[in-house]
Amino acid sequence: TTQAMPTPLDILQSTFGFDDFRPGQEDIIQGVLKGEPVLAVMPTGAGKSLCYQVPSQILPRPTIVVSPLVALMDNQVAGLRANGIAASCLHSSQSREENIAQWRDVTNGRSKILYVSPERLMTGRMLSAMKALNPSLFVVDEAHCVSKWGPAFRPEYADLTRLHNLFPESNFAAFTATADDATREDIAQQLFSRRGKIIVHGFDRPNLSLTVLPVDNRPRQLNNLLINQKGNSGIVYCLSRKNTETYAKSLNDAGYTALPYHAGMTSEDRFENLDRFMAEPGIIMVATIAFGMGIDKPDIRFVYHTNLPSSMEAYYQEIGRAGRDGLPAETALLFGLDDIRLRRQFITNDGSDRDHQMREFKRLDALIGYCETSGCRRQALLNYFGETTAPCGNCDNCLNPPEQVEATAAARAIFAS
Ligand code: ADP
Ligand code: MG
Ligand code: ZN
Repeated sequence: TTQAMPTPLDILQSTFGFDDFRPGQEDIIQGVLKGEPVLAVMPTGAGKSLCYQVPSQILPRPTIVVSPLVALMDNQVAGLRANGIAASCLHSSQSREENIAQWRDVTNGRSKILYVSPERLMTGRMLSAMKALNPSLFVVDEAHCVSKWGPAFRPEYADLTRLHNLFPESNFAAFTATADDATREDIAQQLFSRRGKIIVHGFDRPNLSLTVLPVDNRPRQLNNLLINQKGNSGIVYCLSRKNTETYAKSLNDAGYTALPYHAGMTSEDRFENLDRFMAEPGIIMVATIAFGMGIDKPDIRFVYHTNLPSSMEAYYQEIGRAGRDGLPAETALLFGLDDIRLRRQFITNDGSDRDHQMREFKRLDALIGYCETSGCRRQALLNYFGETTAPCGNCDNCLNPPEQVEATAAARAIFAS
C-alpha cells in the first residue's frame, strides 16, 4: 500500500501541536522540501527551528543540523523529545558511549534529525560516516557565524564552506536573525555558492497604517472610514454572514460597489464575486474570514475589521492582505467589548481540549492587549512576533498620542493633596 506523504501542516499540527504556521514559515519549508538551497533571515523568536524540524520529519533521509552551542543543541533536542520526536545530538559534553548511542539512532533510522557542532562534523572520520548516511538536508543554524563580514564570525564555521562540494546530492538550508545585505550574500556564497534562494521574512509592513477604534456605531464608523477610499479595492471583515449581506447592501445604497462573501453562499456566487473583486477596480469585498486564503491581489488599499479577529496571528494575516504592492494601505479595527465576550464564548464552546483552549485564550488576550495599548501599535504587533522597532509614526497612537499627560497630571494632583 502507498502511504500519502504527510504535508507540512499535518506535521505542524499532529506532531508539534501548533495550529497554524507563523508568517514566513510555510514559504521556507516549501523551498526546503523542493530541494532548493535556502537562506532564511527571520527575526529572533520568529520560529526558524520549525522551518527545518518540520522538513526533517518528511524528508526521506536524515537532517543534520549544525549549531554553534552545546546549550542550544540540548535545548532543541529536549524540545523535540518533549513532542515525542526522536532527535539526536553529538557533542563533547556527552560521554563517548552516549555519542555512539545517539549516532546509532540516526543510522538505524529511528532518529531523523541530528544536531552536531561544526568542529565535530568537519572531522575526516565524521565526514566519511556522513557520506554513508547521505543526508537529505544539512542545516546551518546561526548562519551569520560563517561570514567574516559579521561580528559573530567563528573560525569553526568557516570550514563549513567545504560542505556543499562534499555533499552535492544533499540540500542546504541556513538560518539567521542578523544579516544585512552584504552578509546575506556572503553566507549564500560560502554555504552554497549562491545557488540558493534568500528568503527574508521580517514582520514589519511599514506601508500599512494601523488604527483601532472603540466601537460606537459600526455602520457609521465604517462609512467614515470609507469616505476616503472611493475607487479603491478593499476588504471589510465581519464576524457574521448576515452582517456581510446587510453591510454590502447599505454600502451599495450609499454608492459603493460592495459584494458579500461568506461560506453560506453558493460556490457559483462566491466565485462570481471573487472574480469581480480581482478584475474590476474599486470593489469592496464585505466578507467573513472565509475570504482571503491565498488571495494575492497586490492593490488592496484597505482592510477594515468591523469585529475583533480571533487572535493576533489572524489579525496580522488578515491586515497583511492589504498593500502587497508596497504602496500605502489603511487598516482599521473596530474594537467592542461585546466582541471580547463573544470570542471567549467561541473558544469555550469549540469542543477542543483544555490545552488548546488555553492557547487560544492567550492568542486572543494578546490581541486585546494590542487593542488597548496606548503605545505604538506597530511596536506591540512586532513585539508579539519577536521583533523590535522604533515607534512607527504610522499608527493612530503615534499620530495622535492618547491623552496620558492629563491622566498623569490628574494622578499627580491626587498624590499632591
Ligand atoms: P528562532 O530560532 O527564530 O529565534 P525558535 O525556532 O526558537 O525561534 O521559536 C521561537 C518560539 O516560537 C518557540 O517557542 C516555538 O515553539 C514557537 N513557535 C514556532 N513556530 C510556531 C508556530 N507556528 N505556532 C506557534 N508557536 C510557534
Ligand atoms: Mg533559533
Ligand atoms: Zn506607531
